[in-house]
Formats: sequence, structure tokens, C-alpha cells
Amino acid sequence: MAGPEPAPPVIADLPVAEVAPAVATAGDDGVFDYRIPPALVGQVAPGVRVVVPLGGRTVEGFCVRVKTGSGIAPERLRDIAGVIDARPAFPASSLELAVWTARRYLCRPGEVLQASLPGRGLSRARTVGRLAVPAAEAEEALAKLGGRAPVQAAVLRDLLGGPANTGALRKRHGPRAVAALRELVKKGLAVTAAETVKARVRGQAAKPPSGGEPSSGGEPLSGSEPAPTAPGSAALRLTSAQEAALARILVGLGGGRPGETAGAGGRIFVLHGVTGSGKTEVYLRAAAEALAQGRQALILVPEVSLVPQTLDRVRAHLGKARVAVAHSYLGGRERSEAWDSVLRGEADVVVGARSAVFAPLARLGLIVLDEEHEDSYKQEEKAPRYHAREVAAWRASREGAALILASATPSLETYHRALTREYDLLELPTRAGGQGLPPVQTVDMRAELAAGNRSTFSRALTKALGESLAQGRQAILFLNRRGHSTFILCRDCGWVARCPDCDVSLTYHSPETDLACHYCGRHEAAPSRCPGCGGHRVRYFGAGTQKIEEETRLAFPEARVVRLDADVVRRGEAARVLALFQAGQADVLVGTQMVAKGLDIPGVALVAAVAADSGLHLPDFRSAEKTFRLLTQAAGRTGRDERPGRVIIQTYSPEHPAVVAAAGQDYKAFALSELEARRPLGYPPWRHLVRVEFSDPEEGKAREASQAFARALDRQGFDSLPLVLGAPDRPRYGGPAAAPLARLRGRYRWHVLVFCPDLEAGLEGVKAAVRQATGHEARGGRRRAADGPVTAVDVDPTSVL
Ligand code: ADP
Ligand code: ZN
Ligand code: ZN
Repeated sequence: MAGPEPAPPVIADLPVAEVAPAVATAGDDGVFDYRIPPALVGQVAPGVRVVVPLGGRTVEGFCVRVKTGSGIAPERLRDIAGVIDARPAFPASSLELAVWTARRYLCRPGEVLQASLPGRGLSRARTVGRLAVPAAEAEEALAKLGGRAPVQAAVLRDLLGGPANTGALRKRHGPRAVAALRELVKKGLAVTAAETVKARVRGQAAKPPSGGEPSSGGEPLSGSEPAPTAPGSAALRLTSAQEAALARILVGLGGGRPGETAGAGGRIFVLHGVTGSGKTEVYLRAAAEALAQGRQALILVPEVSLVPQTLDRVRAHLGKARVAVAHSYLGGRERSEAWDSVLRGEADVVVGARSAVFAPLARLGLIVLDEEHEDSYKQEEKAPRYHAREVAAWRASREGAALILASATPSLETYHRALTREYDLLELPTRAGGQGLPPVQTVDMRAELAAGNRSTFSRALTKALGESLAQGRQAILFLNRRGHSTFILCRDCGWVARCPDCDVSLTYHSPETDLACHYCGRHEAAPSRCPGCGGHRVRYFGAGTQKIEEETRLAFPEARVVRLDADVVRRGEAARVLALFQAGQADVLVGTQMVAKGLDIPGVALVAAVAADSGLHLPDFRSAEKTFRLLTQAAGRTGRDERPGRVIIQTYSPEHPAVVAAAGQDYKAFALSELEARRPLGYPPWRHLVRVEFSDPEEGKAREASQAFARALDRQGFDSLPLVLGAPDRPRYGGPAAAPLARLRGRYRWHVLVFCPDLEAGLEGVKAAVRQATGHEARGGRRRAADGPVTAVDVDPTSVL
């Protein structure tokens, strides 16, 4: 793909590769032409990882196409420096998918490919230089170089002692060592080759990158292996609703061939069923059908911690299938092995979290997104900021596969598409085993306070918990805040412990840590006296999971209480805690939303949302949807066997529509009213939303950049009026405004929310406006102008905080 120059004469037989560097780059599409040097002709092929010079650096990249001739003058073409793998790391379809994803989320195809590759970040390519001539000849050349080119001489001397990589050379001889090595190559004295460096050894604990896939530390799982044939539940008789849903999916699975584009509807199914309605049962049978057709199935779950549970059921159903696990949390090697086996076509089923949507399956028949509403399907913290659901939809239509979006609480984006018949809606209204949904009791915590109960446990909850324990049954207490106390405050002067780098209060944790910032990870000791007034009346407020755990122990000393939240995950104890609870060796599980999702534990008699409204009043248009979803999902954790369960919702907002609908377990009522509430404002799903953030250590710079961007949007013809006053089909924007979390990690954040009736046209406008306002390209990642603020563009963000 051409650079900015006018097309020079094309040298027809020049072997050229189009390469997508694995890093953020300038330029329009992130793909560049390189000459394939004679030694590498035949080795460079589409999908092969290569090493290329880029600016002053040497970086890893992916060959996306091989051709002859380039629009770039031959003398300006740089050479591919080396080849990393002997075989392609991706099939052609992945390359196409990466290009689409990059365009959809404003990032580079190479970044997408890198993010989808096993052990990402674990291997780094480096260039190794070695002598190209016998030592005697090199000695001679060294003598000639002498003092005229001291750096070249020093590098050559090193190579006389053996091969050396550019990192080491740079360390020993300074930044000019790399250029010196290049000179030596030109003179024919040295050659360079690429070498892959493993940054981590197998078995070493891999810390999930921030914004990476959430995980409870699932055990390492191997690549494709035949599962023993198990009777499983393949013998279950489907309910009539399940039968009907499956029949529709099988029709969708019927005629698809790779490359065939799906018409509207028919191929994307929204499998909406209450918790326990037998959705898993349905999609596993659909997977069995895909396999029977000689095609493959890709099953995505929102969290790595849910992979083992899903694997068990896959194995029970599809006894003879070869199953591979693909996700980015395994130690580098296991994941690579799984990836390679999939690439070789040796897997029938792939199970994994978000990034597995890119798994290199060549005969894809079915994709399943289980719990499709989960935000963890969106990568939010860093580029590529893709949503696995959108990538899966494009991939399914491109590769002629069916897609099942399964949920008890579909995202409003998905449900809207079902209502407009873009997707095919399949409903499972009742639980498969005939159990009713558990009764839900809403407790008004204002009344508790009025009655003199200042505890975080209402009287109803204390009573229900006591009963459940007396019956020897289990309970889940759920609260969406980890830590002990959410803030500490001085009763005398009002001082509150705040993070100096972020616009938030510090959470008190005990005993692991003292005060911690949940946004930047900063820790500090809790003061014994008030730093504001020196007084002694510093008090702890706002209960977190640790406090609930503590209070449960105090109230029920005989109960076995365990806790599951991000702190427990970080200590690597999540799997143990879950196993304990699942085996009935713990009575009460206290946790964050982690415990509200996806768990299938029959013995649970009681589920309580301790503070149902903790997320309800966040300044995010999705806060009602998120609260409704969490409460409904949590309620689904109980009553999953023949014994009835019950649910208690503690709230200060019992009349809020999200709480009322959750108590009535009425998804449809909630969805319809919430859709209507969003319509006049043009919030998703009525419009696409693009969030453009400008951040800087100086507030003025962040604000000014966002204002310049808004002016550029004006010039692009975007409306700044509210939707009700503006033109309905024009793109519009809100802001600029300080983000609700106005400062994070020492950077002030200003943002503009852009609402696009047509995403493609909207993104063109956004890109142009970013370029005008900042002088650099708009990217889904972050990009800093020379010394200006960092710009980050998030397409369809799941949070606008
Ligand atoms: P979901 O995925 O909707 O939560 P599952 O497929 O996990 O539901 O089913 C919930 C429970 O009901 C499981 O224990 C499953 O084995 C059982 N089940 C599913 N379908 C049937 C059926 N047709 N008859 C009886 N039990 C069923
Ligand atoms: Zn004070
Ligand atoms: Zn902080």
C-alpha cells in the first residue's frame, strides 16, 4: 500500500511484502511495503511473522500480502530484516478479519494480529548480528576502520567474539550501535537475522495485563486432546422451547458455506432465556451439528474462570471432539501449542475468552458468545479496543457461520437488533428443569435505618441467612465493591483520604494492604491521626466485600465464610475458593460481581445483593442496565435444583425502574422502557457512540485539546445540539466536558461523546477532526502529539466514566 509519493515506475519483478507492524504506527492504514531480500524469498508469505525496520526501530510485524513491484521507489523500499516463524501464524481469513477490526476500532491491523496471538507480549523479536566473513578478513577490516568509525569498529570487535543482538550492542556502545551494524551489513562484513526472545519461562505466574481478560486463575489447560466419551446430558429430552430454538439454529447452520455472506436475520441468533433455561444445552447441540457437518465450533465465555466449567460440558456433550483452549492467560507455551494445533486444523472445538474470537479456525460453522452482555467482551484499556461480539458477527457472516448470542439479559444493542429483526430472536422463557424462578424480596434500607438498624445487614437478610445456615444450605452475598471500607473520613474536619493522582477516594483494605486506589493501584498506610486537623476521630465508611465477610463471621461464628473478589484472584486463590464452595465445604460466599455471574451451584438457597444501588447513580447512561443485569444474574444463582431458593435485594432506591424490573425478573419490561428512555437522547443502541478522550497532566491542555476537537467537529458538519433539536440523521456530539473520573494516574481527562447514526461516516469525520485538532492520526489506542495531550478514541465504549 502506497506511501505519500506519486507512483514511480514499478519494477515488475521486485519481490515485495505488505507488512503490518505489531505496534502503533502513523500512516493511513498501518500496512507498509518492504522489499523481500533474495535470502528470504520463499520464506515470506502471508501470515508469517517478520522483523522489519520502522523509523529508527526494529519491530515485529506480520506479512499480509506478497506481490511484485511497489508504488514506492525501489531505492526507498527498506528490506525485511528477518523471518520469525517458518510457517504462517495466521490463515488468510485472520488477516482479513484483522484489517476489518482495525478499521472498525481505529487501530492497526498489526495490533489486532498481535493481540490475538498466543503469549502476546511474552515474546519479543530482536535482531542478531553475526560476521559474514572469516575472522581474519574481519580483523583486517577492523584495522582499516580504526579511529574513523569507532562505533562500527566496536560493534565489529564484538561480532568477532560471537553473534550479538541489537539490544546488547546498544547497551554496550550506545544508540548508534544499530546504525553501525547496518553499515557493517552494507559493507558485506555482517549479516542480521531475527531471533525470538522468550521473556518468560513456562510455569512462571503470568500477571494479567491491565485491561486484559479477567481471570480467576484457571488452571493451565492443554491444547487439543480427545475427551473420553462421557454420557453427559446428551440424553436429556429438550423442552419444547429448546426444541424450537434448536430447530431454527439448525436451519441457519444448514446452507452456509465459507465466504458466503449471510442475509439479514437467519444467521445471527439471540438466544434469550432466563438463567437455567437450558441455553447451554441448546448451543452445545448446535455445536454437535456443526461438527457432524465437518465444521468447527468456537465457544466464547466472558471470563477465563468460566472456561473449565464450559469445557466439562463440552466434553460431556461432544465426547469425541478434539477440544482446544485458547486464551491469553495461559503460560506462553501452552497457549502457543493450542494455537498451533488449531492452525493445523486439529481442533473441532475451541473454547476461550475474548481474544479467542480471533482463533485461526478455517472451517468455522458456529460461534457462540455465552453471556453475550458481559462488558469483558470489550477490550477497553488499550488498543485494539474491539468488542468480541461485533468481531464475531462480522466473522460469522464472512465465513458463513452461524452465531449464537446467549444471555438471560441480552445487551440492549443485541436486543434492539432482535426487535428490528436484524437478528433472529429465540426465547426460552422458563427454567428447563421446571423449577420456578426464585421469589425476590426487596428490602428498603431507609426503613431499616429509620428502625434503628445501622448494620449493612437488614433484619430480613439476617433472618434469611440464619435459616439457610440452619438448613445446612449455602448462601451468596454479593456486593460490587472490594476492599473493607470505601472511604475514610475525619469526623472533626471532614478530611477524606484521596488518591493524589486520581480523582477518587482511597479504599481501606485490611489486613493485606492499608489504603489503596482502585484506579492506579497506589497503596499507602492508613493514618492513625487525621492529617488535616491532627484529630483522632478518623472513621471508616462504606462497606466492601472484606467488611461483609467480617460481619458475616461476627454474626454467624459457626458459618464457614469464603470470599471471592479481585484481591483473591490476584493472590491466585480464586480457583481454590470456588472449588471449596462448589464442594459444599463453605456455607457463605461473599464476593463482587464475580460471584453473580455464570456459576452453576445447585446447593445455593439464598442470594443477597447487599447494596443493590451501589452502581445505580454513576454518571454513565448504562448504569441502570448494568444494575438490572447484575441483580438479575445474581438472582439466577439460586434455586437451581429442586429445592426452592430465594433472593434479597437491599436498596435505598426500591422504586427505581431497574430495581423494580429486577425484582420482578422482567427483562422485557426493563429493556423496552430503557430503550425508550435512551431514544430521545440518541444513546446506544439508537446511535453509535464514539468517545474521544484527551488527557494531560495539565488540566488546561486537556481541556483546550478537547475544545479544539469540538471546533473541528463543527467544521466537519457535526451538530452540537441535543438530538431533539438537531437534525435526526446528522452526527452530533456532546461536550467537551471533564470526564466523570476527571483525573486518573496524574492525568486530567476531558472528553467529547460523538453520536453517529452511520458509524462509517461518523468515524471518517472523527478521524478528520482529530487530525485537524491535534495534527496526528486518530487511533483506538493512545497517541501523543509532539508535546500535547494524549488522545484516545474508543468506538462503542462500554463505559463513559
Ligand atoms: P442456561 O445455560 O440457560 O443457564 P443450562 O443449559 O445450564 O441453562 O441448564 C440449566 C440446568 O438445567 C442444567 O443443569 C441442565 O443440565 C438442565 N437442563 C437443561 N435442559 C434440560 C432439559 N431439557 N430437561 C431437564 N434438564 C435440563
Ligand atoms: Zn480532621
Ligand atoms: Zn489513584
